[in-house]
Formats: sequence, structure tokens, C-alpha cells
Amino acid sequence: MQPNIILINCDDLGYGDLGCYGSTINKTPALDKMAAEGLRFTDFYMASPVCSPSRGAMLTGCYPPRIGFGAFDGRWVLFPGQPLGLNPDEITIARLLKNAGYATKIVGKWHCGDQKKFLPTRHGFDSYYGIPYSNDMGIQKEDDPNPPLPLLRDEEVIQAQPDQRGITERYVEESVRFLRETKDRPFFLYFAHMHVHLPHYPPERFVRESENGVYGAGVACIDWAADVLFHELKSLGLDDDTLVIFTSDNGSRVHGEGGSNGPLRATKGTTWEGGQRVPCIMRWPGKIPAGQTCSELTLSMDFYPTLAAIGGAEVPTDRIIDGKDIRSLIHGEEGATTPHDSFFYYKRNAIEAVRSGHWKLHIRKDDQEIGELYNLETDIGETSNVFDQHPEIVRDLMAKIDACRQDIGDDAAGIEGKNIRPAGRVENPETLTHLDPDHPYMIAMYDLKERG
Ligand code: MG
Repeated sequence: MQPNIILINCDDLGYGDLGCYGSTINKTPALDKMAAEGLRFTDFYMASPVCSPSRGAMLTGCYPPRIGFGAFDGRWVLFPGQPLGLNPDEITIARLLKNAGYATKIVGKWHCGDQKKFLPTRHGFDSYYGIPYSNDMGIQKEDDPNPPLPLLRDEEVIQAQPDQRGITERYVEESVRFLRETKDRPFFLYFAHMHVHLPHYPPERFVRESENGVYGAGVACIDWAADVLFHELKSLGLDDDTLVIFTSDNGSRVHGEGGSNGPLRATKGTTWEGGQRVPCIMRWPGKIPAGQTCSELTLSMDFYPTLAAIGGAEVPTDRIIDGKDIRSLIHGEEGATTPHDSFFYYKRNAIEAVRSGHWKLHIRKDDQEIGELYNLETDIGETSNVFDQHPEIVRDLMAKIDACRQDIGDDAAGIEGKNIRPAGRVENPETLTHLDPDHPYMIAMYDLKERG
């Protein structure tokens, strides 16, 4: 039987933002219950500390530089009207599942290209409803180079400058409708939240109830959305037939100011643990043992072969896929261990760090070469540099980095990877919207000026 799959991806939700990951200030009862009834990963990583590369990697099972998603004409994420996007030759997990008979839908943030040939509907999703990039890329206070923030249905802009306070409610309604419409066949729903990316526009109810300002309200809104989806699955009698995955595209940007990466060092946008180690919870009654914790090294890129196997889809054999099938870990099989020898932390197209086992070696931070070694088992916060005490471990990790450089490349070392594929590119790109001074926009200009 092909189970239903719901993949919930948050924006900039940190490792310490959920009750089940140690938050005492945010209210997340539905997600805490999900973890109690399922599996919580402690050592799960996104392939990038920022949006576009993280999402492209998760959907294709490949490191961002492998698919031309390390950087975008010098920028680190995609901006409105850029000529770049996920290459039409890439095969997303949605495409694999669709080919295997799934109904596929994405609701929310895409951020893998806003030109027509890069949209979700060209990448294996039957339908799309959402804001195609970050919520700070519309018209907001101060000098703003962006066109009005688009809300898309499939490939059509159905509204510009929507009220962001209501957007999650609209996303949830759309998702519930999809579950009802497709309840008689296997479905794949990718629900990509706007929260908790800056600026924060949570619904008023959650602001009133929050003990952690607008950030906590955004987290509560995420929890509410999950609660509605679980309620709907039960109402439709699909609860036992549905694998639900909950995660975040990168760490919190506002660590210490409402957001929390828990005990992890630093924030979104860095290759310290706080940038890329994120919450991941999976729930599948009867298939995933309840109340379990997995501390093996796992990656968002693993979703690709794992979900393909669960859904009875074929993984392409004509290209390198970096993710591995982690079903044995998900099902809690005795003695199951990580299939990964190592994990490489890329910032843009440069390798900054590698993890193998419990050891993590940093070789670079932005333009600066460094040499720092941490034992993540005893020092999760990366506070005690033991580089000088373990020359043989450093040597071993450097050899892994050298091999990765040859394979995927490393800008900082001036090495082009042998096995990389280009991003998609179009001539004459256009933005999805254009400012119309006569249009009665619901929100002419967002009043918050923060950017994330
Ligand atoms: Mg993000």
C-alpha cells in the first residue's frame, strides 16, 4: 500500500523553538504530541543554513552545489525576477511520487525559482498555492527594490500584497481541501510555512496568547496548523495511513531574541550547528514506534530516496543522489545506524566544515580560514576547540574534505567539482508582479521593515 505523505517545512524555526526540543516559552502542544507518538531526531541537518539552497537540496536529495544551488549569480538565495531556478532536468521527490501515482501539492513557500519553467507545477506538483519566495520580498517600508508580494495558484498570481496575518489560515484551508479531495488515492502534501521568517505577522489570537512575543505567536501558529492537519487526518480515517514529517529549512535567525537554537552555537546563515541542525519529527502510527528518539546522523537529503522507497517510486540511476534511504532508522530497527560516513557544510559554494561520527572540523568561516575541531557528543555547543589535541582526526577529516572538493567542488580552494549539474537559467527574466499605483491592494505596503 502506498501511504500518504505530508511534509511540513518551517521557515527559520530553530532547534530550541519547540517544547519537545526544550523550549519552555513557546506553546507547541500538537507538535509535542506528534513527537510523543512518533520519532524525534536529534542530529538532523538541512544541507544549507539558508532558504533556497536548503529547499532545492531537500527536494532533489542533492547537496546544493551539486545542482547549481550554492549561489545565484553571487546571491545566496533567489530574489524576485532572477533568471535562475531549479533546473527542469532535475527530478524532484514530487515528480517521483507523481510518477508513482500520487496526487501532489505544495502549499506555501517554494523559493526554487519564480520564472515559469521553474515553478512547482513544472517540477512534479499537480498544484500550487502560496507565496513563491520569502515574505520579506514584497513591498515593505524603506527603499524597497521588490515588486508586490505575489500569491500564486498554480502559475497564476491571484493576489498581490496579501495580508500576511491571514496567510497561514488560508494555507491550512487549502491543505484541508486537498486532503478531502484526494482522500481516496495516495497523496503527497508539501506544506511550507511562512513562519517564523522575518518580518513576523502572526494572527492576532496567537499574539494575545503568546508569552514570547510575535516570535512565540508564529511558532504557535505553526503548531495550530499541524493540529488542524492531524485532526483532519483522523476525521477522514487516514491517520494510520499517513506519514507526517515536520522540520525547518534552517536554524533561527534571532537566537536569543525570541528565537532559539537551543544549546547550539550561532544562527541561520552560518555553518555552526545553529545554522543547519534543525528539529525533525516523524509520525506514522503503527509503522514508526511511538516516543522514540534517533540520534544518528540524518539529513534532509535523505527524504528523497526514503520517501521514494516508501511510496514505491524509482530513484533515478543516471545521476548522483547524496541522500540515503533511512527507513531502517525510521522504523526503529534494532542496531540501525546512519548510512552517512560524513556530512559537509557548505556556505555558498565553499566547504566550511565536515562532520563524521561525533567529530566536526571547521576549516573556514566566510573569507577566513580557520582550524577548529569539536566533539559534538560531549560539546554540542562547539565551545571547546580540540584541534591541537587530535591531529590524526583532523587529518582524516581533511581527507574527506579533499574527496568532497573533487566531487562537488570548493570555491574557496579554487576547485570545480567533477560531478555537478547546473541550475536552470532563462533569458529575459520577468518578475511575477509589477507595481500598479491604481490597484487597491489589501496591504499597499507592509508596515514592518525587518528582513530575514
Ligand atoms: Mg529559511
